Amino acid sequence: MDKRITILGSTGSIGTQALEVCQAAGFTVAGLAAYQNEELLEQQVRAFRPAMVCIYAEDHYRSFCQRVADLDVQVVTGLEGLCQLAAETDADIVLNAVSGMIGLRPTLAAIEAGRDVALANKETLVTGGELVMQRAKEKGVRILPVDSEHSAIFQCLEGYHHCRLNKILLTASGGPFFGKTRHELTQVQPEDALKHPNWSMGAKITIDSATMMNKGLEVIEAVHLFGVRPEQIQVVVHRESIIHSLVEFEDYAVIGQLGVPDMKIPIQYALTWPERMPCPTKRLNLAEWGKLTFFEPDLETFDCLAAAYDAIQRGGLYPTLLNSANEQLVSLFLQRKISFLRIGELARRALELDGSRPVTLSNILEAEQTARNFVLEHC
Ligand code: NDP
Ligand code: MG
Repeated sequence: MDKRITILGSTGSIGTQALEVCQAAGFTVAGLAAYQNEELLEQQVRAFRPAMVCIYAEDHYRSFCQRVADLDVQVVTGLEGLCQLAAETDADIVLNAVSGMIGLRPTLAAIEAGRDVALANKETLVTGGELVMQRAKEKGVRILPVDSEHSAIFQCLEGYHHCRLNKILLTASGGPFFGKTRHELTQVQPEDALKHPNWSMGAKITIDSATMMNKGLEVIEAVHLFGVRPEQIQVVVHRESIIHSLVEFEDYAVIGQLGVPDMKIPIQYALTWPERMPCPTKRLNLAEWGKLTFFEPDLETFDCLAAAYDAIQRGGLYPTLLNSANEQLVSLFLQRKISFLRIGELARRALELDGSRPVTLSNILEAEQTARNFVLEHC
């Protein structure tokens, strides 16, 4: 298979696994972007020889240019550079794997340029879901989910688009604090929350998994990707992360997608869709697992999940307020400036801000600032 891929966030957890997939599949890398990790980005540029590369942090631009001065590669920087990379590289598909809602504008830039998008960056759909799905439809661009649950749902629905869907069963690992009470979480430190039982991921999403905000963001992501109502999405805690999600049709037939917990499988499927090919990962041996377990989520302890349902039910800019407050709160928690439980408390309170204005790009960016300021004033 001959494909040209641009990767935004190539030095991260998803980005490096995507490059492994590209290498194994023999795909051409058209463009790469990172925030500031010059050393790894340079290695990637030397190994994959993209035509364009973005180092987002402007104070790293000059030194990065020097690093790759002997190569035939155009170096760009900043948000403008990131959007240019998403739009202008000659890619069949742009994989957006940056972390946080900074991913929204490059996603829109790729869509405007008519490029298909493989979307790992869930914050893009949480904040700009209406805009992104609408513009993608108008431009005939495909949004291919990379998040393992959404890839699973996407795969379960293939061939059944004419059937009535009752609900989506969105699986959740439950994170490192499954079964704990709020009282037991009062003393949690970043190093405790960064220990995920099943997945090795970037810091922000790992904290989101510990608070279950990640599952909340995924509920919102699923509403936009699959055009369902929030109440049609049921979160089921499944500790083993073998069933990546399921769908129930009107005849109560339930279809799920299974596999070892390795992001390379959904990353590769987004890049090869509608084809499949062998993936550089382990195969699932069900007998080795013996049993799979399922539980109801604890919405009282994990109030971030309840807040996400609330935000998407209200619609408008409420998901942006929640997401932006959460981005700020996670950063403060990682800097040890707030406690673990404060994340949920303040994220929920950010929903008291006004999110009723129309969902336009400028209103989204303004709501982001309002929520971040609210957190900084109240933490
Ligand atoms: P990481 O923190 O590991 O990586 C983030 C990547 O984005 C790094 O390459 C980072 O560069 C880069 N980056 C951050 N900001 C910018 C910017 N402004 N411009 C250009 N590059 C930038 O995150 P993950 O890979 O874990 O997650 C990425 C996204 O995928 C998130 O939205 C997450 O929710 C989603 N996701 C991740 C999963 C996983 O298993 N990791 C699973 C499902 C979804 P640098 O290294 O220089 O900082
Ligand atoms: Mg996921």
